Amino acid sequence: MQELRGMPVVKGIAGDITKRIEELSKKGIVPKLAVVRVGEREDDLSYERGLLKRFSAVGAQVASYVYPDTVTQEELEEGITRLNEEKDVHGILVFRPLPKHLNEERIKELVTPQKDVDCMGSINNAHVFAQDGKGHAPCTPQAVIEMLDFYGFNLTGKKAVVVGRSMVVGKPLAMMLLKKNATVTVCHTKTENLKEECKDADFLFAAAGVAEMIDASYVREGQVVIDVGINVKDGKLCGDVAYDAVSPIVLAITPVPGGVGTVTTSVLLKHTVESAEN
Ligand code: NDP
Repeated sequence: MQELRGMPVVKGIAGDITKRIEELSKKGIVPKLAVVRVGEREDDLSYERGLLKRFSAVGAQVASYVYPDTVTQEELEEGITRLNEEKDVHGILVFRPLPKHLNEERIKELVTPQKDVDCMGSINNAHVFAQDGKGHAPCTPQAVIEMLDFYGFNLTGKKAVVVGRSMVVGKPLAMMLLKKNATVTVCHTKTENLKEECKDADFLFAAAGVAEMIDASYVREGQVVIDVGINVKDGKLCGDVAYDAVSPIVLAITPVPGGVGTVTTSVLLKHTVESAEN
């Protein structure tokens, strides 16, 4: 079994990005991501710290724009409109979910598509579905693609099964896998014979958000298993795949933590640099 760790992928991306940031700095440009955060949720704060670390390691910037839980729709929209106009801001990331009294759809659509580095809005989503090479793809499914590319997997003609059909992970990932010429099946809670569908896959992608649901009975020898899930079980982080039970059976598998999640912030960095270049 090959363990597909995220860190080598992160280092690969950092090497390329460092050169591109050097080129930008010759023109006086420093790639900058604006993080818009409402409130003080621990998972947001922890993600923000991770972003700061990864961006500053290569000389890019993260600026936080923090609002209280009581912020109004109008105030938040004014803030995002300002960031849309600021020339030295190249990417805007709004932490979600937003508090219930705010209209999240309006906020997602307000971010200008060029700065929408995590594909919140419908224009970038349309590019993902068209696979026309334009816009920014959502960072998590893009991190999966970066991992497949880094470890040299060719998906042409292979059977890819995605468990999960959210707009953030499952659906865009399915489109990206089609672009890689895989034959793609998307599964969800109404899928019949989920185990058989999963066993049939050459490449199995777990993005259901259910801790360790993919156990030994869902897999067979020779498969590549990519675990996108991030869950907490008994106080510990775990994926959607029962790693200990599945890893002795399959050809290759990503761990959680240390797999896809590790690569996501690097993809955000890459998108911010691309936006600065444009
Ligand atoms: P959602 O809850 O939005 O979607 C889950 C999807 O999985 C739904 O389509 C749902 O089906 C399907 N599903 C849920 N339970 C089952 C089941 N028992 N059998 C089959 N299908 C099922 O989650 P997200 O897409 O936002 O996230 C998925 C996972 O990825 C989560 O663990 C999340 O934490 C993780 N994640 C990881 C990131 C990273 O950087 N690695 C970033 C973002 C998310 P239905 O549509 O029928 O309800």
